[in-house]
Amino acid sequence: MKIGIMGGTFDPIHLGHLATAEAVRESFALDEILFIPAARPPHKLGKLVTDEQHRLAMTTLATQSNKFFRVSDMELKRKGLSYTLDTMNELHKTFGRSTELFFIIGADSLADLFKWHAARELVEKCHFIATTRQGVDVEFSAVESFFGSAAREHIHRVTTPGLEISSTDIRDKVRCGRSIKYLVPEVVENYILREGLYRD
Ligand code: ATP
Ligand code: MG
Repeated sequence: MKIGIMGGTFDPIHLGHLATAEAVRESFALDEILFIPAARPPHKLGKLVTDEQHRLAMTTLATQSNKFFRVSDMELKRKGLSYTLDTMNELHKTFGRSTELFFIIGADSLADLFKWHAARELVEKCHFIATTRQGVDVEFSAVESFFGSAAREHIHRVTTPGLEISSTDIRDKVRCGRSIKYLVPEVVENYILREGLYRD
């Protein structure tokens, strides 16, 4: 089994996340993609993040129509900070050693990877699929000089659709009363409006 892991705040989940996950699934022949909403992302400590039940609900709604997509609340259940290393160890226990895990990260996250908790151990233990993101240019030589040969073996780069969508932009649009149609799945748009999210 080869499983792709898509972690994020998903505040809210948008078509950039979904299109990227689907493109990666196909090009790496992954058996499924597991979306894992983060409880408290270590790099977003200073910021307000929407209630986890809402983020989980939107992620579940958004992924329903793809039979290869699943959602896990393991990081939400664990509480505290969401460290990818803990998640990876837990997934290895659940799926067994024969399952290969591929963490999907955007270019913006790849540029910050060296700052992650136990970054070197993480890159040695599992695969990363680094996708492109509009407006972000990552110098892979800098990544390589930090992680050494593990970077060449375990960090795979792939060009993905490049939808210029971010959750930050969606939240801003809702706050200003602007349309978010075609940026998020319709079920997510309806959920945001119904629950009155991102208005203040
Ligand atoms: P925010 O603006 O709140 O930071 P975001 O849109 O960056 O939200 P996150 O939940 O922070 O979304 O991202 C989770 C993962 O998805 C990260 O690895 C990020 O790089 C990736 N990602 C987010 N948006 C896109 C996009 N439009 N295209 C490709 N990858 C994306
Ligand atoms: Mg982000």
